Amino acid sequence: MPLAATYTAVPVEVDDAKCIADKGCTVCIDVCPLDVLRLNELTGKAYMAYDECWYCMPCQTDCPTGAVTVNIPYLLK
Ligand code: SF4
Ligand code: SF4
Repeated sequence: MPLAATYTAVPVEVDDAKCIADKGCTVCIDVCPLDVLRLNELTGKAYMAYDECWYCMPCQTDCPTGAVTVNIPYLLK
């Protein structure tokens, strides 16, 4: 099976259907200490712009709609 040429998955996923960034929410973007979450200007939703993460969790914990999922790598659990 061929391996993917580019890495497309990031550890923090935002459910666009739940995200209310288009209504002004910036909670996850504001709380991330690494500043890796951004607003997608096209969709109006938050997303992980850079694949760097401390797995510190406030983005998931503080999201008012439960839109953020932090997929912690198995070896860090
Ligand atoms: S905290 Fe939740 S609802 Fe707010 S911008 Fe982030 S993902 Fe969207
Ligand atoms: S888990 Fe921490 S470092 Fe990773 S995206 Fe969320 S707030 Fe940022």
